[in-house]
Amino acid sequence: MHTYDARLADLVFDYMRERLQLDPVPLDHPGERTKLENALSGLLTAHGHDPAQVLSIYAEQLAPAVISCDSPRFLSFIPAAPTKAALLFDMVVSCASLQGISWLEAAGAIAAENQVLRLIADLAGMPSSAGGCFVTGGSAGNLSALVVARDTARRKRGLGPYDRVRFAVSDQAHSSVTNTLRIIGVEALVVPTTDHRFTGADLRAALARDTDGAPVIGVVATAGTTNAGIVDDLAGLAAAASDFDLWFHVDGAYGGAGLFAPSVRAKYDGIEHADSFVVDPHKWLFAPFDCAAVLYRQPQLAKSVHTQDASYLDVIHTDAPEEWNPTDYAYHLTRRARGLPLWFSLAVHGTNAYRDAVEAALSTARETADLIRRHPDLELIREPELSAVLFRRKGWGPEEYYAWSRRLLAGQVAFVTPTSWEGETVARFAFLHPGTTTAMVEEILDTV
Ligand SMILES: *Cc1c(COP(=O)(O)O)cnc(C)c1O
Repeated sequence: MHTYDARLADLVFDYMRERLQLDPVPLDHPGERTKLENALSGLLTAHGHDPAQVLSIYAEQLAPAVISCDSPRFLSFIPAAPTKAALLFDMVVSCASLQGISWLEAAGAIAAENQVLRLIADLAGMPSSAGGCFVTGGSAGNLSALVVARDTARRKRGLGPYDRVRFAVSDQAHSSVTNTLRIIGVEALVVPTTDHRFTGADLRAALARDTDGAPVIGVVATAGTTNAGIVDDLAGLAAAASDFDLWFHVDGAYGGAGLFAPSVRAKYDGIEHADSFVVDPHKWLFAPFDCAAVLYRQPQLAKSVHTQDASYLDVIHTDAPEEWNPTDYAYHLTRRARGLPLWFSLAVHGTNAYRDAVEAALSTARETADLIRRHPDLELIREPELSAVLFRRKGWGPEEYYAWSRRLLAGQVAFVTPTSWEGETVARFAFLHPGTTTAMVEEILDTV
């Protein structure tokens, strides 16, 4: 099984060629458990099967039971729209068994990943000292960064590993932040927001009111809330963080891509003060899964927290100035060189193409807001700041929204799932795919 089989290679490459050319990608459907179990039954046995047979089970039975998040009609959660160049290069990362653990083993891959991290740090205005690595997703990025914040604060303040510490987070922070705090044993000081946007004034007021003696050591700002695309008051939060000696973490897993878009860049002012910043290229920077960038203002702090100490690893830790071990900047050890597909695509297409593609989703969101405003049965819930649009269908309750969502998917018109806003079930579009057209949106709005 380790020798090259030309027929097997052709089978898979031909399948990939076809998938890459699908235009549009079909949305496809939710799976049915018994049907899938029947399709898979008896497949993993002592003796193998003809690869053509196995591939056809995948292509005909399994793949259609995966809703295509790269369809321009996928408007739920946060969609994906990887570029063809990035997808193809992901195959290179796989076929060349590229890892990106240490400079000793993988300098070529790491140099390219760091070039992309540098580009993102420059867009954010972070100092030349900034650096980090690519991890699996925003959740992994938030976890890695907040551990550094926690341990750095404990060291600075002379606290022990079991002393209580807290992080200020808004009531709009992503669920992964709440999860992270629970995992790392840091409590949340949940700050209520006015109008869902976390401001420096909100933070100052919460700290002034706070009577709990456990120190607040940091603050999480969101640069693009997942539900509504709201960018927090980064400048105000950065100033408050500086006054109160707090670690300033910016979660831009979804919205960080807006740094590429001149029409919204000003909303991110203050991000340059981040002690740590996370953005998911597998969301709005058109990279394949799974890829998130975590950047630190002072990477040496991350290194002192995350470096794994094992005698067999001594060899990767030298004092060479060019040495950069991505494994030292998050909780992982072995890692895929998952930044390379983005690097390749950025180098091939140039940053202007990224700017235009991000702007395209922002325009679609603005045009959709206009369509909703003009529609007699719809109400726009708030002006979209980024590419998420929340709206209500007058007279609908939860059942109607869910039935509408199922109808749209069954008819392969779109995948649009309801969300909740201030306790009410409402409709939501998340735009990201440059191939999503206003005509598609009109087609969807015609069904309400
Ligand atoms: C998506 C998202 C996350 C989690 O990222 P994953 O890549 O899904 O782990 C965290 N924060 C925000 C704001 C997000 O939108």
